[in-house]
Amino acid sequence: TIHEVLLSLTGVEATYNHAIRALSGVSLTVRTGEIVALLGANGAGKSTALKALSGLLGAERGQITAGTIVYDGEDSARRSPADLVRRGLVQVLEGRHCFRSLTVEENLIVGGLGRKAGRGELRRELDRVYSLFPRLRDKRGALSGLTSGGEQQMTAIGRALMARPRLLVLDEPSMGLAPLVVESIFAALKALNRDDGLSILVAEQNSTVALRHADRATVLENGRTVLEGAAAELRERDDVKAFYLGFG
Ligand code: ATP
Repeated sequence: TIHEVLLSLTGVEATYNHAIRALSGVSLTVRTGEIVALLGANGAGKSTALKALSGLLGAERGQITAGTIVYDGEDSARRSPADLVRRGLVQVLEGRHCFRSLTVEENLIVGGLGRKAGRGELRRELDRVYSLFPRLRDKRGALSGLTSGGEQQMTAIGRALMARPRLLVLDEPSMGLAPLVVESIFAALKALNRDDGLSILVAEQNSTVALRHADRATVLENGRTVLEGAAAELRERDDVKAFYLGFG
């Protein structure tokens, strides 16, 4: 059902190296079938919050010190990233991280390796990714490192899709990309949400684009949730934009 809570963070606090407090009270909810935008200025804590909920904080010498994270009905604050991926929580990291010396298609296939999928199934999923991002079909034999930033972002998203996520988490997919490319990436996310019912949590500094495509948004400031609401409402509120989102 659409209202079922898929992910919830409540009062999450986190520090790096036992010293730097990066999160001091993050709460957010993603229900099945929703697109939720996580907004905030540079350094507000968006990436840290995403790493915390994907089990990736430890890899950066970070630690959750308070609060709860529940994914799919289970406490997941101390789960490994691999375990969460198997349960359908898959993150596309900031900065894309393609394997530069592998081809586009090889990068996509890597995303499906953790599953017990037959050849036919992998093939069908590759085709799904290619129909979503036709540019990747054209570039499937090219080395990823030689493709454009937009193509690398599409490859990173496609690779995450090959793991068959139920919740796709993205960290700043618009970063460094031209407006038209950003638009096509968000259009693809919208299509995945509409056609496949994929739930999506997307951190963005580009609040205009994110609010246009999201159902709801959560705003972070200095490591804590300061605002939460329907995207349509936040879009209308100029004070919100000017104050929290850095433009007005
Ligand atoms: P950005 O858009 O720049 O990624 P953000 O909203 O995602 O910003 P975070 O990257 O989560 O913010 O950063 C939150 C705070 O944690 C910042 O003060 C940052 O300097 C600090 N921080 C982030 N990563 C680390 C790390 N690996 N080690 C120590 N401090 C970190």
